[in-house]
Amino acid sequence: MLAKSRAVIALTVLLLCLTPATVLASDPVHWGYDGEVAPEHWGELSPDFSACGEGKQQSPVDIPATAAVNPPGLRVDYRDSALHIVNNGHTIQVNVDPGSTLQVDGATYPLAQFHLHALSEHTLNGAHTEMELHLVHKDATGRIAVVGVMLEAGAHSAAYEPLLAHMPAEEGEPETIAGISLNAADLLPAQRGYYRYDGSLTTPPCTEGVTWLVLSEPVELSASQVAAFERLYDHNYRPVQPLYGRTFLVTPAQTGRRSSGLLIAGAIVLCVAAATLLWALSRRRRTRRE
Ligand SMILES: [Zn+2]
Repeated sequence: MLAKSRAVIALTVLLLCLTPATVLASDPVHWGYDGEVAPEHWGELSPDFSACGEGKQQSPVDIPATAAVNPPGLRVDYRDSALHIVNNGHTIQVNVDPGSTLQVDGATYPLAQFHLHALSEHTLNGAHTEMELHLVHKDATGRIAVVGVMLEAGAHSAAYEPLLAHMPAEEGEPETIAGISLNAADLLPAQRGYYRYDGSLTTPPCTEGVTWLVLSEPVELSASQVAAFERLYDHNYRPVQPLYGRTFLVTPAQTGRRSSGLLIAGAIVLCVAAATLLWALSRRRRTRRE
């Protein structure tokens, strides 16, 4: 009996010791868009956030008018998903059911979630649009590719309505909205040309090595749709970061396909030429023999 109660006391003490340690370890560093936790201070808030202050491949960036644009050909295969929506204290985010993917350089990146910013984070030739949508994809090895969609005030969008109509007003846990399904492909513009560059997450820890694909054509939302989001978040955007010599890339897969096409065409021409030459030579020999 005594041994049993000692064991209970020991276990209780152990649990009491572990609980604060667990809480401390999992307590996220508070960051935001105002005052002492604003973007210009993110790098100082935690050693884990050092890339925010010292990184040389940070996002977002200004996309100048001269930036190379990839022709329409963004390779997405998005499927219908139930609407799992959360106000996480930084944005409104939708978590996506498994099955939707993006192809980049032959690799498959499953779509994990999408979320909104106001104003836009990227700027086009120095100008913000009202909002920006980020579709975040992560491959099996943890590499991240984000598709950015510039959202500007204009016509009402029926495609964005299910998302905008179910935004939780208060920060909380994800909730699934019954009877609503959504396909992320409907949130993209009709023309899918895009700017591509190497950047980072635009929120702490500002991890680099992110492939950015920012669509060149914006999508329109009505002024009241923009206002609905701005009532919750009207400045959850990080200012543009220096390029530090980075350039806008034309997708290597396309260049590769084009050059391998050229190689095949070249090989065929050479084969035909060689066959013609051999045939001509054999004919000459035959003619001489005759
Ligand atoms: Zn984002």
